Amino acid sequence: KKEAEGEAGRKKQTRLGMECKKEENLSEWYTQVITKAEMVEYYDVSGCYILRPWSFAIWEKIQAFFDKGIKASGVENVYFPMFVSRAALEKEKDHIADFAPEVAWVTRSGSSELAEPIAVRPTSETVMYPAIAKWVQSHRDLPIRMNQWCNVVRWEFKHPQPFLRTREFLWQEGHSTFANKPDAEAEVMEILQLYRAVYEELLAIPVIPGRKTEKEKFAGGDYTTTIEAFISASGRGIQAATSHHLGQNFSKMFNIVFEHPDKEGEHEFAYQNSWGLTTRTIGVMTMVHGDNSGLILPPRVATVQVIVVPCGITASTSDQERSDLISYCQDAIDCLKEAGYHCRGDFRDNYSPGWKFNHWELKGVPLRMEVGPREKERGEYVLVSRVDRNHREMVAVGDVKVKVQAMLDGIHEELFRRAKADLDSGVVVVETWDEVCRALDNKKLLVTPFCGETPCEELFKKESARGEDVEPGAPAMGAKALCIPFDPPRPLTPGTLCVRPDCGGVAKFYTLFGRSY
Ligand code: AMP
Repeated sequence: KKEAEGEAGRKKQTRLGMECKKEENLSEWYTQVITKAEMVEYYDVSGCYILRPWSFAIWEKIQAFFDKGIKASGVENVYFPMFVSRAALEKEKDHIADFAPEVAWVTRSGSSELAEPIAVRPTSETVMYPAIAKWVQSHRDLPIRMNQWCNVVRWEFKHPQPFLRTREFLWQEGHSTFANKPDAEAEVMEILQLYRAVYEELLAIPVIPGRKTEKEKFAGGDYTTTIEAFISASGRGIQAATSHHLGQNFSKMFNIVFEHPDKEGEHEFAYQNSWGLTTRTIGVMTMVHGDNSGLILPPRVATVQVIVVPCGITASTSDQERSDLISYCQDAIDCLKEAGYHCRGDFRDNYSPGWKFNHWELKGVPLRMEVGPREKERGEYVLVSRVDRNHREMVAVGDVKVKVQAMLDGIHEELFRRAKADLDSGVVVVETWDEVCRALDNKKLLVTPFCGETPCEELFKKESARGEDVEPGAPAMGAKALCIPFDPPRPLTPGTLCVRPDCGGVAKFYTLFGRSY
């Protein structure tokens, strides 16, 4: 009986590890990573998920970084209600036309119908701008630059995926109101740079910055800037964050006006921006860096950066030797914690070191410290990198802090380097429709001459769709315009035609297209 129990126990333990390969079944792999690494728990409302401490801590790191950045720039945090009246929501026609299908409405309280249904914010332009209209009288009241950290609800009909596309998500939304267009436009770019820093400097993910096409821009805005990331495992792009210039469209609808500073008696409408970054970041990070052993956490957002595992304790180890070894481990933990690192010891005695290695690898901890009696005797520690397990370093007691910092930095750089290599080989420049289709078949994004017209873009998507997709589970969708990169691959030769053979129009810019999330 004992043997049978042991067997069942081992089976149960093996089930804790990854049971599928990223390159073979990406969506199953993703589900396993986020559940087995204890990031997410499923919930009985479709499209909503529980964020467990292991993932929420990443969000807190992103919040801290971004919050610091915007505050340094002069933005203040606020909180507005999550409900919006129908009248306010429907004020800007283009805006509501785009969001209407995804708005969730409260129609009842208890058993009585509400006289007037109220909406749950899908974004807060229409919540905030009536108040801003009251606060702005003179140009001296401007700029007003506000941000809120909150949840929003978009009742998406596309297949939901934890973090990447959810019906309720956490985000920050910034809303700024300026007296003039140049100041507003400068902020759009300043925020986009900050988003880029979140991805590149914190998450070790390279992005492509650019402008959205007319079809893909934020509804009701003048133009949208974006950073686009690439998930090489699926060959799909993903909108990583967006910074919108709303022009005067909303200020005209909500009557946000101020007295002209130079022309007496004349009024001018304010210029506005809005910008948002969501918990999608965590999904992109998981998809880009994770491997067949599980999650890989970029060091700067890792909840635990160094896990300390005592090794070499056997049946013949005395209690004294065991406790000496643990206290030697604790010395390293104390020293690292004091220096500001997130460090934890796994001293559980009901698991073997090998089990613990697998467990913390699955959870993506960037550095493991192995400490055995031999290391203790020599006054050393062994450090092992999550991104390259052959990379083991012996470090003397006095060098722990310096070495840990160097290895964490090295891991960040290695993750970025790999993701950049994937991005560089994942984006091809093409000039003909045949090449467009071939690029998509090869799971690539493509940059190509494009006319920029919305009807042509719709046909592009339709005509680039495939009957059956190569990868099981991935939709046979066509390619969307992801952005017009700020940094095109080469200047467009004057007179170049749009890549769609039936278009015939002149290309306006190189545009990044691809399947997307
Ligand atoms: P928007 O206000 O529409 O520009 O959205 C801001 C950002 O939210 C986008 O750039 C996306 O990265 C992200 N996003 C959009 N929809 C979702 C969703 N359903 N779940 C998670 N993130 C989303």
